[in-house]
Amino acid sequence: MKVLKNAIIVTMNTNLDIIKNGYIIINDNGDIEEIKEGNYSGENAKDMKGDLLIPGLINGHTHTAMTLLRGYADDLPLIEWLEKHIWPKEGEWMNEKNVNLGTELGIMEMLACGTTSFCDGYFFTSSTVGLADKIGIRGLMAEGLIDFPTPNKKTPEEAFDYIKDTLNISNNKISRIVLYVHAPYTTSPLWIEKVSHLAKENDLLFVIHTAETLFEVSEIKKRYGKTPVEHCASLIPVETKTAMAHMVHLNDKDMDIAADRDFGVIHNPQSNLKLSSGIAEIAKMRKKGINVSIGTDGAASNNNLDIIEEMRTASLIGKYDDPQHLSAIETMKMATIEGAKVLHIDDETGSLEKGKSADIVRISLNGIESYPYFGNPYSFIVYAMNSRDVKMTMIKGNVLYENGEYSTIDADRVKSEVRKLQ
Ligand SMILES: [Zn+2]
Repeated sequence: MKVLKNAIIVTMNTNLDIIKNGYIIINDNGDIEEIKEGNYSGENAKDMKGDLLIPGLINGHTHTAMTLLRGYADDLPLIEWLEKHIWPKEGEWMNEKNVNLGTELGIMEMLACGTTSFCDGYFFTSSTVGLADKIGIRGLMAEGLIDFPTPNKKTPEEAFDYIKDTLNISNNKISRIVLYVHAPYTTSPLWIEKVSHLAKENDLLFVIHTAETLFEVSEIKKRYGKTPVEHCASLIPVETKTAMAHMVHLNDKDMDIAADRDFGVIHNPQSNLKLSSGIAEIAKMRKKGINVSIGTDGAASNNNLDIIEEMRTASLIGKYDDPQHLSAIETMKMATIEGAKVLHIDDETGSLEKGKSADIVRISLNGIESYPYFGNPYSFIVYAMNSRDVKMTMIKGNVLYENGEYSTIDADRVKSEVRKLQ
């Protein structure tokens, strides 16, 4: 049993309860046993000294190992950036060893930003899922399938066989396999159909980049006479748990389809801004009842995996036409409980409640930007704080990051190996 005491607890439960002075008891399974108001009188409790405890943050979409390509090519349009720079460099660099190294670097960065769950789309997942699991983070790891050769497999047929072989390796582990195809403009309908059916049969999340750019919208219209959302909806079985990254260019009908089909949306505002893809209409989507998660996308198009920064960006660009859009509290929901719903992990994480995994982040209320504090944690978290204020990241009851130190990663080794690559 572990106890975290003397904290302001931001639960993100259905009532959005905030406990002004309380404690959390964590059982030996790493789950929350109790959350109580008042002082804890027992021994061996960890004193939070009046800091905030919030649910672990969720990075809904990233390509973790692309941390290795951070700053490699900037200031270019998406297609040119991908085809002339990122894909060739990936072909040259991203072998299994480097993908693991980049994944470890990315996980370090995410832990330091209070991220406890993330959804990854990359390559060599049979080994990265083991790596994430060993570190102890909740990684949803998906092998990229695309019509072209990838760093791991020469053809989509080979990638599909590889994916099928990985399905059982993560049973009952904290990190797990999920399924993914790149996008409607890069992956033929056959593969969207096959992988999404495989997801349905195995009750796994299916992820796809959708409606990211105007180029994609016109290309899909030309090829299939449909919008990207209509096209995907016609291929993905109704029962498949589906999350769509980007969703920047949707019409009203697309939004109705997404709401009706329960397609979760993963909003990647910094990546969309950096690549001039556009601004997703998140406030409108949420009004229609669509669940939205926030993601950083890969570090090559961001250029970091800081979900706290991403929350602020999401809220600020959501306000471009109305300051009441994407309030601090709505934005915080997207990075916690609503994000968990998009990834279909809300029964285990996303809020601080009895029975859920102890995925808990301690945020200092002693940083300069926390003075004064008017008692609104959402305002502080979304508009003022930054990852310097993250003091501790706990997942399933284990402290993986605290005051700059990692308990399950040799940070010096990772840094020196990455430096040697350049
Ligand atoms: Zn992406």
